[in-house]
Amino acid sequence: MGERPRVYKTEGIILRRRNLGEADSIFTVYSDREGKFDAVARGVRKARSHMRGHLEPLTRTRMMIARGRSIDVFTQAETVTSYRAIREDLERAAGAVYCAELADRFTAEHAPQDGLYALLIDTFDALEAGAPLHTVRFFEVSLVALAGYELQLDACALCGARLPEADTLLSATAGGLVCGPCRAGAGGGRVVSIRAVKVLRHAGRAGIDSFAALDLGEALARELQAALGDVIRHLLEREPSAGRFVDDVSRLPVGATLP
Ligand SMILES: [Zn+2]
Repeated sequence: MGERPRVYKTEGIILRRRNLGEADSIFTVYSDREGKFDAVARGVRKARSHMRGHLEPLTRTRMMIARGRSIDVFTQAETVTSYRAIREDLERAAGAVYCAELADRFTAEHAPQDGLYALLIDTFDALEAGAPLHTVRFFEVSLVALAGYELQLDACALCGARLPEADTLLSATAGGLVCGPCRAGAGGGRVVSIRAVKVLRHAGRAGIDSFAALDLGEALARELQAALGDVIRHLLEREPSAGRFVDDVSRLPVGATLP
């Protein structure tokens, strides 16, 4: 392997920011070529910083990075898409923050995951264009599959038997749907409606636009959110904090604003 270049260009989504010292911030980025990485922006919290507006969390940014001994440093940053419509909508902003947190939690540094950057962009683009919040379910199903835990939805995850067209146990431990005779050995789970099963299958097969266009209704959307929340929690072994956040804001009255 040749020596890695000292300066590199990439494009990514800013996942999160934390402050360092008086004027610097460290940003966690998920990028197309490098996967996830941290880099510091010197002086970015000063009013005259030219990078300031280009490194907001959830922004899609083109950037130039210099490799440092302990941490990489931003030398340039330029917004590709600021996702303004997402930021101005409480529910969509929470949904995008949740997707960003999952992208962070499901990946290791400098280990790009095939398809994940495109999935993030597709999801953010859809939300920006006004897609309903259940589009986040498409992100979850796809992310889990990209991470190597594709849900088995066409046959019993334990014995491979055909599944009846009926409410079925979804078991994160078993890795998908579980038939009646296997239930006792499934290690728990949640019984989901046949409608939810069909939507989950659609998420595995359809494109994001087709999934976003589904008219789920409130009850089915909530059922899917809970069922996939179980799966994500199981895989991460603890609840992502933004998952809790999405849960909370979806109960806020319409017109409420972010603190
Ligand atoms: Zn079975």
